[in-house]
Amino acid sequence: MTVPCLFCRILGDVAPCHPVHDTRYTKTFLDIFPAAPGHCLIVTKQHYRDIFEATPEDISMVGHVSTLIAHTVKQELQCDGVGIFQLNGAAAGQTVFHYHMHVIPRNEGEELAIHSRVQGDPDELQAMAERLNRRALAMHAEID
Ligand code: 5GP
Ligand code: ZN
Repeated sequence: MTVPCLFCRILGDVAPCHPVHDTRYTKTFLDIFPAAPGHCLIVTKQHYRDIFEATPEDISMVGHVSTLIAHTVKQELQCDGVGIFQLNGAAAGQTVFHYHMHVIPRNEGEELAIHSRVQGDPDELQAMAERLNRRALAMHAEID
């Protein structure tokens, strides 16, 4: 029997996460190695390795939720910009092989790293997830 991937374990509540937002098709939680505070990952509930396996419907849902999460981090964190990207294949830098989108708050003068090796403080991550969750719920009506 194959072991489910990391994000499938998070989706199955077998591994922990700091949750931000949930839909029928996606789950958004914080990256535990944040490239910047508030770094979110939007993952499909269905396991797809990458963009080449994911269905157009699920890819477009992730796009829709990315917009909501971009507005959420911009409003809540008052950041200067927001980076949205995803990686496909080890050659492109993908490290977790379950389709997902990064949403990263950016500020002028900060280094533009994609990945960080420094794990976030669990209490800070939890407080950030709760802030973004509240803001996302409050903004949903505006974005939908
Ligand atoms: P990728 O490199 O595949 O585009 O992104 C995978 C992301 O998952 C990385 O930014 C990495 O920091 C993050 N990550 C790795 N392990 C964990 C984990 O256990 N929990 C969470 N929430 N994120 C993780
Ligand atoms: Zn998976």
